[in-house]
Amino acid sequence: MTIVNTTLKQLLRTSFHSLMLGIVLVFPLLLLGCPSSTNKPSEPNSDTSTNDSSKSNFDGDRAFEHVRKQVEFGPRPAGSAELEKARGYIIDQLKSYGLKVTTDEFHAMTPLGDRRMVNVTAELPGESNDVIIIGSHYDTKYFKEFKFVGANDGGASTGALMEVARVLAAKGKPKLTYWFVFFDGEEAFCKNWDDCHNPNPADPKNPLPDNLYGSRHYVAQLIDKNELKRVRAMILFDMMGYKNLHLGRDELSTTWLQEIVWQTAKQIGYSQQFIDGPEGVGDDDHAPFLRAGIPALDIIQLSTYEPWHTKDDTLDKVSAKSLKAVGDTIVISLPKIEERILSRSR
Ligand SMILES: [Zn+2]
Repeated sequence: MTIVNTTLKQLLRTSFHSLMLGIVLVFPLLLLGCPSSTNKPSEPNSDTSTNDSSKSNFDGDRAFEHVRKQVEFGPRPAGSAELEKARGYIIDQLKSYGLKVTTDEFHAMTPLGDRRMVNVTAELPGESNDVIIIGSHYDTKYFKEFKFVGANDGGASTGALMEVARVLAAKGKPKLTYWFVFFDGEEAFCKNWDDCHNPNPADPKNPLPDNLYGSRHYVAQLIDKNELKRVRAMILFDMMGYKNLHLGRDELSTTWLQEIVWQTAKQIGYSQQFIDGPEGVGDDDHAPFLRAGIPALDIIQLSTYEPWHTKDDTLDKVSAKSLKAVGDTIVISLPKIEERILSRSR
């Protein structure tokens, strides 16, 4: 069954390529025979990034510089002085885009003791009070055996999120309100995700996990402040800057949200980066939102990112092109996501 399916797919793919080749070869000839095209005035000094409607103003090089900067601070586990410096950099940048930045400091009990953590939120007010969250964790995993700088795991998603925030802020007032959220303490302190647990004074029989400290706290705060209902969708960036970018479909994520984003990616030429294979993540910063009933999407490359949680997760693994593929796709998907949310509210 699988073999037949694969062969059919290959056949279809081959015919598609032949068709595309035909179009590519014939199209210039058609243009030659078309008088109106020769009369068209040329547009010197035009900025192709703004003229090409299939791309956004997301600047891959700017996003990459944010990744470089974070890596230069060194390993950035929750509670470290290096993470404090990274946070200062992120906040300064967000403020320079004209966004209102708030920080939420809290203390979490971890297997290594009490840790101070800080979630950062930059707000872009929209016509509606309804909110779309776009998030990334900005801490890196703690390893005592080696220096872990998390260029892709923590760095890339944070850099891309900062650049998405800049692009949206420059566009003017959106239909929905945006919260760009930088989560602290996503990573487990113990070696593996589920190796350790933390005491839960409120419910001693159900110890707390050693991961997702920031996002779990964020959702708890939303519930406390009675703001959960405002949040209509959550999009998470995590490890999406690898130079060989292949983003599979995370199986936990909300289907309609994933469908809009994947379709958009294909329409604007990123079908190599957004693939249809599955990506089994299991748990990530979107999970507390999903559990609270909020549609959420994780954009992540986990299973095929070989340097994951090794000393080799360094800047040379990340590319500006990959950052731009995700940045463009999200910026161009957002109006469609807003439209879908608003159409359900009417
Ligand atoms: Zn990680």
